[in-house]
Amino acid sequence: MAINLLSGVNLRMTKDDTHINDIIEIRPPELYSVPVVCTNGYPVTVTVKVGDKVKEGTLIAKPSQSKGVFVYSPTSGTVVSIVEKFTPTGMKCKHVVIKNDNLLQEHNFPEMTDKSPKELLKRLAISGIVDANFGGSPTYLRYTLNAIEKKFNLYVTMSNTDPYLTANECLTLNRTAEVVGGAKYFASLLASEFIVFVFTARARQAKKHLIQFLKKHEPNLKYKIKTISNNYPSDNIHLLNEKFKESRNMFVETYGKKAFVEDAITCFSFFNSVEYGKPNMYRVITISGNNIIRKGNYIVKSGTTFQHVLEVVGVKTPDKPFKILNGGIMGGLAEYSTDISCNLETLSVTFVDNTEYSEAKESPCINCGKCVAACPMNLLPNVLDDYCLRRKTFDAERYGVKSCIECGCCSYVCPARRYLAQRIGLVKRQVSRRKGGSK
Ligand code: SF4
Ligand code: SF4
Repeated sequence: MAINLLSGVNLRMTKDDTHINDIIEIRPPELYSVPVVCTNGYPVTVTVKVGDKVKEGTLIAKPSQSKGVFVYSPTSGTVVSIVEKFTPTGMKCKHVVIKNDNLLQEHNFPEMTDKSPKELLKRLAISGIVDANFGGSPTYLRYTLNAIEKKFNLYVTMSNTDPYLTANECLTLNRTAEVVGGAKYFASLLASEFIVFVFTARARQAKKHLIQFLKKHEPNLKYKIKTISNNYPSDNIHLLNEKFKESRNMFVETYGKKAFVEDAITCFSFFNSVEYGKPNMYRVITISGNNIIRKGNYIVKSGTTFQHVLEVVGVKTPDKPFKILNGGIMGGLAEYSTDISCNLETLSVTFVDNTEYSEAKESPCINCGKCVAACPMNLLPNVLDDYCLRRKTFDAERYGVKSCIECGCCSYVCPARRYLAQRIGLVKRQVSRRKGGSK
């Protein structure tokens, strides 16, 4: 396996790509079990009760204090229960269970006639769009009245670097107008002078396609194209490390910084919210894994269980043991049950069989320092891991656990196969929830 720690982990590309196909909406399940809190943990108030009829897009939870998220029903149907369950990132929160009536009734936001930055900000705030890449917070939190129209640059990542994730690239190829349209709305919010579309080197086809699209349909748009290496971790981090050190913290807390980074998926969702009044209740995600029959990029609504996803995509050899990852092969979090629901932070679902993961147990740290060299956020994963194991969350916080982006590079390079990213990620979420004063 090729490893280049100076500029990220350079993965051997052994996986067949899934990005060429179109985006398919996953067959609707009979029941949706919708988590009503995002990972930032700020509390929400459930606005429906058992027995209520809802439409696709009906508000089912709203923030009970600032920084919370608006949650919308993914289907028309009836609320049959409200239960406590775990989310894919290990939080316990209320889930609104809705029985799908297949009537396809919709509730949309009013049409936007005024698309000024202030009105766009209001729409973003209620849209339900959540950052999957920025620690699971509602996207509007990064766009405040202090940020808008301040000529901040906008970077849009149009491809992924995790070898199993291709959703951004797929959207760029298949939903180009919506992605560019959403990027233009974000650029308008920020009064950006130009938009920088960022591609990984391997996303040649998507880059060529976008350039042709812009020449034909957006001759007046001011934009730049940036190509970054294929190395992992993510495109955003490379972007920040390479040229924009001043905006590095923006990855975690974007307030007041100079550059804003979005991805194709977020632009796509924002466009649909502004243009068609669609509340955000789904995400385009990559479903992948060697043992999966119908790998691809799917529209998956919040509240769809992994079990349902598995039934739709099909398994080649059902007796072969497999694990479910919420996320890609590098940063994905292993799930313990197929009854967990995808949420709006689910970047991908990866079903890995025993040809793709090792059953090796972790062994004690040998202090080799490889994890430290690999960490793109300049953390000390070995030290953090020790604090996490000893439940010293305050010390972990002092050592920057909240800056961890859960890229998985530390675990990947560790010769002792320690579960660094998983433990550090867990404590990071505990610390964030404590700060969020959640539940
Ligand atoms: S500590 Fe976090 S940011 Fe650093 S390598 Fe590990 S998972 Fe990535
Ligand atoms: S890479 Fe693994 S063994 Fe090496 S210092 Fe980090 S935790 Fe310890």
